[in-house]
Amino acid sequence: MSEHLNETRRRRTFAIISHPDAGKTTLTEKLLLFGGAIQLAGSVKGRKAARHATSDWMALEKERGISVTSSVMQFPYEGKIVNLLDTPGHADFGEDTYRVLTAVDSALMVIDCAKGVEERTIKLMEVCRLRDTPIMTFINKLDREGRSPIELLDEVERVLKIQCAPVTWPIGMGARLKGVYHLLLDEVHIYEAGRNFTRQDSTIFKGLDAPGLAERIGAEALAELREELELVQGASHPFDAQAYLAGRQTPVFFGSAVNNFGVQLLLDFFVEHAPAPKPRATTTREVRPEEEKLTGFVFKIQANMDPQHRDRVAFMRICSGRYSPGMKALQVRTAKEVKLANALTFMASDREIVDTAYPGDVIGLHNHGTISIGDTFTEGEPLSFTGIPNFAPELFRRARLRDPLKMKQLAKGLAQLSEEGATQFFRPLMSNDLILGAVGMLQFDVVAYRLKDEYGVDCAFEQVGVVTARWIRCADAKKFEEFRDKNAMNLALDAAGELVYLAPSRVNLQLAEERWPQVTFAATREHA
Ligand code: GDP
Repeated sequence: MSEHLNETRRRRTFAIISHPDAGKTTLTEKLLLFGGAIQLAGSVKGRKAARHATSDWMALEKERGISVTSSVMQFPYEGKIVNLLDTPGHADFGEDTYRVLTAVDSALMVIDCAKGVEERTIKLMEVCRLRDTPIMTFINKLDREGRSPIELLDEVERVLKIQCAPVTWPIGMGARLKGVYHLLLDEVHIYEAGRNFTRQDSTIFKGLDAPGLAERIGAEALAELREELELVQGASHPFDAQAYLAGRQTPVFFGSAVNNFGVQLLLDFFVEHAPAPKPRATTTREVRPEEEKLTGFVFKIQANMDPQHRDRVAFMRICSGRYSPGMKALQVRTAKEVKLANALTFMASDREIVDTAYPGDVIGLHNHGTISIGDTFTEGEPLSFTGIPNFAPELFRRARLRDPLKMKQLAKGLAQLSEEGATQFFRPLMSNDLILGAVGMLQFDVVAYRLKDEYGVDCAFEQVGVVTARWIRCADAKKFEEFRDKNAMNLALDAAGELVYLAPSRVNLQLAEERWPQVTFAATREHA
């Protein structure tokens, strides 16, 4: 097998989806620990805290109990290279999360055993379903009293409409937690509080009849387990790799992230069964990961990751070929050739210069305002990856400056912050207003805070008569011009310079659509 193919096939690129507090951060920490990426569990939190301390912006994040930053962590495990893409937790940042999910090949869903399926999990699941993303499930916090495992699986199947295939099964719960039984390996893994379990230092019994097991977990617990397993094996689905890869079935694991219990069983199964990078659709053709030439798309832009650098980083998912330092690539949107020098990866807590990166990997490109979300890079072929939309914002505010002399900084700040994708910035054709669109109210506070903190601009956001936005497209140049002239009052340019119709009301939009049948009013702007 060629080196390229081999490297591609051992990539596992995924994200964790969960409702806040289910244990995503804790589980991330433990996964990194197994990957040897960090020495001590707790470093992820530690890193978070250190960042909070060094940046006021992070202080806001902490104050609100939200995480708006997202990072990429790579670690080797059992001959595979695992890429874990972090997703922001707060509901207002759903669009960001959506785009991270376009860059992964599979997902891991974490559920709190006391809470079951929560609202945010449902939404994230809907997003995964759009691309039939394969999902594994980890039911967490088994060291606490929760709902019955059967009831939990039932809820997942009913609410999320996906088959459950339990791979591990809990023996007891809360204070009575004895361990988990692995249905496929036919092994009992004993739970011992306060220890970090690797395979080497866990107690494992082979099979339910193994000598000593009944003494260890108690005859009663063992009898209960047998009974439950009979029920489960009768009522649930056996693991079916194809159904999992098609997004129809989710393998389910039980454990306790904070106690590092059940996590390695999950990771072992994950690296074996989770999909390697797959072909991806573009505007012209499907791109296969094993192709020799580099292609990739930008799914996220993040500002000021390192307070010392105050730069912006564009995260690019590699879809085919190979990245090597200093190589040249075509930025398809601008038709410019750019040098991809010194790409970054984000291993554990420090940035490192990547030598070579393969399909499934994510690299960080330094961005001085020329890269946008959705940008495709290739080695010359003019194709663009599809399916990374910008949603029409639903809330609009006009930026009002307290110091009119800061107009230029304000425009720059708004444009740069909207590049990150959480907000969108519009300049009406007929006025000097600067209008910001967002999908959640919290984003206006975040932007105001950051404008002050990072650009020294004091500004407030006030009501403006816009209810929705539509991106305008028209194949007929003459009609397009006519439309533009007649509707200039309601037209604006977005940060990428695309024409947008800012509708003062739904009725107005409907009338405009009826009056101009040749014009397309698109609710999303596909980055192309
Ligand atoms: P996130 O918001 O999903 O990232 O959740 P965190 O990982 O920050 O966890 C939320 C809270 O649940 C924290 O206080 C964790 O210590 C706690 N937690 C995480 N995993 C477990 C677990 O297995 N058992 C118990 N009892 N608590 C847990």
